[in-house]
Amino acid sequence: MFRFYSFLPRKTVAGESSNTPALHRPMGTVMSEVRNVIIIGSGPAGYTAGLYAGRAMLNPLMFAGYMSGGQLMLTSDIENFPGYPEGIAGPEMMMQLREQAERFGLEVQDRNVDEVDVSQRPFKVMVEGETYLTHSIIVCTGAESVWLNAPGEAEQKGRGISTCATCDGAFFRDEHVLVIGGGDSACEEATFLTRFASKVTLIHRRDVFKASTIMYERAANNPKIEIRTFRQIKEWLSDDKGLTGAVLENTQDGTTETIEATGAFIAIGHTPITDFLGGQVETDANGYIVHKEHTMTSVPGVFAAGDVVDTRYKQAITAAGMGCSAAIDVEKWLEENVH
Ligand SMILES: Cc1cc2nc3c(=O)[nH]c(=O)nc-3n(C[C@H](O)[C@H](O)[C@H](O)COP(=O)(O)OP(=O)(O)OC[C@H]3O[C@@H](n4cnc5c(N)ncnc54)[C@H](O)[C@@H]3O)c2cc1C
Repeated sequence: MFRFYSFLPRKTVAGESSNTPALHRPMGTVMSEVRNVIIIGSGPAGYTAGLYAGRAMLNPLMFAGYMSGGQLMLTSDIENFPGYPEGIAGPEMMMQLREQAERFGLEVQDRNVDEVDVSQRPFKVMVEGETYLTHSIIVCTGAESVWLNAPGEAEQKGRGISTCATCDGAFFRDEHVLVIGGGDSACEEATFLTRFASKVTLIHRRDVFKASTIMYERAANNPKIEIRTFRQIKEWLSDDKGLTGAVLENTQDGTTETIEATGAFIAIGHTPITDFLGGQVETDANGYIVHKEHTMTSVPGVFAAGDVVDTRYKQAITAAGMGCSAAIDVEKWLEENVH
């Protein structure tokens, strides 16, 4: 049987100066209730954590963040999330995940968490001048794909230009696609895309590849892949039907040329979103949160799920699965550690 936890008296503290270090700043309005769990982020990981925590009667609170619904709000068709035989639009699926979690008691606030203080319990979660107290936190803030931000890119994001070959490769059957990047992901995505595309051109701004030899060679030896080094995207070209190609710039002599393609995949990395944690939770060299015990981080009581910890899979279903695990871990941890 699950216990419900203590409540602290409400108090208000004076305003803060932005020069004061985060952990020593006054906390604005402190909310009186100590929540069992606060979930930060509203992608598949967050909503699944919310669903499980709600069904476990933890009365979870979620801060959905600046992009309510997460990365899938950017994509039109999801064909690889189980349960949708005809596929589903990203925003629609995220609305359904939210509705399902809310039905079991998830409280959602469409606000961004500015910072947290996890130096002592209850933890503090700061949101627009208010401080929320909580026994545990699940961080589900995802990882942002790094985009080139070349002219013409914004209009084609989630249409002709993607950052996820596993997600969108199948939409480019028998078409010519470009892959931009020089690391393992770029080589792996280029090789993967040859299953669908008639031709893949891998574009890299230098002639040295960061990719491991095996990944590079697999791409280089694939007859469907052409590698163009010392080239970068100067501008994307499109018409009313979608992407038509790009203007490539030679990084050595500045000359330009046009290349035709109906799809492009930018594979120059991801940035996990952890700034608001202020370095209080251990991350790896690339900024991904590290799990210490199941889904728990280096700070007992702080859990993490989804792309913010996932250096490998980065799929909606894997994020959702980890969100489920984190909520179950939280439930167990609360039972064992909070009185
Ligand atoms: C264009 C595109 C197409 C894709 N297509 C597919 C597909 O077809 N199939 C598939 O399986 N995967 C697909 N993916 C990958 C999939 O979107 C991700 O793997 C998945 O969304 C990760 O879920 P998540 O819950 O970890 O984080 P995200 O979905 O990234 O959500 C992160 C959440 O954190 C919130 N947040 C961030 N900072 C804060 C803060 N300070 N305070 C509060 N909230 C915050 C954001 O608002 C957001 O809600 C695609 C990705 C992209 C970019």
